[in-house]
Amino acid sequence: MNHSPNQPILMTSSLHVNDARKAIAELVDDLIAESAAINDPADIETVALDQAINRILAKDLLSPIDVPAADNSAMDGYAFDGKCLDTSYPTISLKIIGTAFAGKPYEGSVGLGECLKIMTGAVMPVGCDTVIPQEFTTSKDDLAIEFKQDQLKLGENRRLRGEDLQQGKPAISAGRLLRPSDLGLAASLGIASLPVKRRLKVAILSSGDELRTLGEPLDAGSIYDSNRYSLTGLLNRLNLDIIDCGIVRDDPASLKQAFIAAASKSDVLISSGGVSVGEADFTKQIMQELGDVGFWKIAMRPGRPMAFGVLKPVAGKSPARKTLFFGLPGNPVAVMVTFYQFVRAALLQLNGANQTEPPLTQAIAEAPIRKKPGRTEFQRAILGRGADGKPSVRLTGSQGAGILRSMSEANCFVILGHDQGNIAAGDWVDIALFDGLL
Ligand code: AMP
Ligand code: MG
Repeated sequence: MNHSPNQPILMTSSLHVNDARKAIAELVDDLIAESAAINDPADIETVALDQAINRILAKDLLSPIDVPAADNSAMDGYAFDGKCLDTSYPTISLKIIGTAFAGKPYEGSVGLGECLKIMTGAVMPVGCDTVIPQEFTTSKDDLAIEFKQDQLKLGENRRLRGEDLQQGKPAISAGRLLRPSDLGLAASLGIASLPVKRRLKVAILSSGDELRTLGEPLDAGSIYDSNRYSLTGLLNRLNLDIIDCGIVRDDPASLKQAFIAAASKSDVLISSGGVSVGEADFTKQIMQELGDVGFWKIAMRPGRPMAFGVLKPVAGKSPARKTLFFGLPGNPVAVMVTFYQFVRAALLQLNGANQTEPPLTQAIAEAPIRKKPGRTEFQRAILGRGADGKPSVRLTGSQGAGILRSMSEANCFVILGHDQGNIAAGDWVDIALFDGLL
């Protein structure tokens, strides 16, 4: 596929979803190479840990310390020198000489035949390398314990210094979309702030004469603009900087004006509506003037028409970078499906993430699903558990591309691949969970 400037990506026949994804990834790579969007120091900022969720780590995070910083106990029990296990006696008796608490180490040393009561996380005392868990021991008084020799081996129930992480080694690699566990990990290393990629500026707009803003009365034939709200929710999952460019009427001058205004302040522009057969010619004409945009018919349902490409840097834009453009279909469910399939990965890629594909899993179809080979389908569904305890999935109500309620009730997509035919009850199907993504 040719992505050179002034060479619109034109598609007449239906495009396989995977080919569309590949073409998008290639174009985003070109854009990154051209604009240095990933390597420019100006695109990195330092934020406090509590602001770093869902941001993308810009540099490898090297551990400044060993974790754990000292050998310590993995259990509540008794620490001792494991050499005493090397005996033919079935029962071991040890004298208790003190206690080691987490955060309050035992200062003395422990000799052979002796042990120390120890709490989980407490530093292993000098002379000890093994911990017998409390529940394996018997104690007549609080002076000595007994346990069976074959219940453990030398070195058990002890965490070694540097076992989780060694000083100077990467704790988190650059490109990680930071999750709650990453923030906890950084904190455990004493790190209070992280270098992250700048939040991409993403402009959104809705196009259509029939659209009304919330608060306006609905006159005959008009509908409320819902797409900007679902898109805002989707983008907020990625902690991006959203620029809401409102509703634009279906006339060339207004559209052109709106696209220029949006492109002047954004890295990415996402519009919805106006790319279906009846309206595309009109949008195409404007896009030819503003940049290099292809109008695709994708072999998928929902979400067949989609425009994708780049808009030239608008005069006065600083830095003078191109804007990545997605013209999503207007149907509310199609907007969410195309966002999930194409836009999300492109945004992550453009922002330097090292993992852009959402995870897939599988579940058993509770009922048959009709499917025509030759297109990828995204059906809204609820994942649960069947009577046999296995993951099972059932579709939510009507699957029309405009029916948001089926999306709202669902917790996953059933994804039926391009060549897949009808599904029988009991077949395994691919699913993608919404949680954290949509
Ligand atoms: P279009 O792609 O512009 O032909 O729109 C396809 C369908 O989606 C039409 O029924 C539109 O009314 C509807 N639609 C378009 N944009 C929106 C929007 N922002 N919110 C809700 N529905 C929309
Ligand atoms: Mg329209």
